Amino acid sequence: MPLVTFNEILPQARKEKRAVAAFNVANLETLLAVFKAAEEEKSPVIIQVYQRLFNDERAALIGAMTRKLVEKSDIPVVLHLDHGSSANLVKKAIAAGYTSVMIDGSQLSFADNIAMTSEAVKIAHGSNVSIEAEIGHVPFGGGEIELSTASEALEFVAKTGVDALAISIGTAHGFYKKEPVLDIERASKIGKAVNIPIVLHGGTGVPDEQLKKAIECGVAKINIATELQNMFLRGVASELEKNGEKFIPLDLYFKPVEEKITQYARAKIRAFNTK
Ligand SMILES: [Zn+2]
Repeated sequence: MPLVTFNEILPQARKEKRAVAAFNVANLETLLAVFKAAEEEKSPVIIQVYQRLFNDERAALIGAMTRKLVEKSDIPVVLHLDHGSSANLVKKAIAAGYTSVMIDGSQLSFADNIAMTSEAVKIAHGSNVSIEAEIGHVPFGGGEIELSTASEALEFVAKTGVDALAISIGTAHGFYKKEPVLDIERASKIGKAVNIPIVLHGGTGVPDEQLKKAIECGVAKINIATELQNMFLRGVASELEKNGEKFIPLDLYFKPVEEKITQYARAKIRAFNTK
């Protein structure tokens, strides 16, 4: 089937108190591993790509590979730009066949975030592409967490018309130094204030029990990047150690690594699908 947008899978997921896993892929192997996991679980999945990969042809090539894979499958798959920083990036993603985008104005003032997001919403919706934006701030590399509020969520969604809203309730990007504690009460208030699907960034390392509570509040998309990519690197390193000087062709080398990632992605998909 053709690629779908958020609107074909996320509102339904929110209604049924499930979340769809969104994995950041960066090469053929991570894409294949994640796609296989979704097929085996017979579950929708979101394949997402950092905006950095739009600096050259990588994002467009990953897009083309994803479309090809999905063509012969009956699993709904969204191809999504993660953390787009400008309207220009949104246009680039749409031109490359992405069916969904994120515009990230979370480091701007609230008013500027609304202005930038509104412009991006017009562009995305003009091409039948779904769009996610973020309020509060989920930090990268140890920065300060800036929590989202229900009143901001309500105003932001009303003024911008986004399809999905990323909120900050205690997660961060990257690995955690100590186990994070999600502010579930805050998530619940936001979930009551807005009825669109809510997105949680920084899913790596958050215990599934906490994620399940967030899903109860309306979280319908959970992003996993760090753990999956780290698993790829550690997997390659461990194969290298195991095989020593022996030459093994690359495609065969990556096979066991891909299999590990598939198992990990399947477990995440399953955890987000059950209550
Ligand atoms: Zn993120």
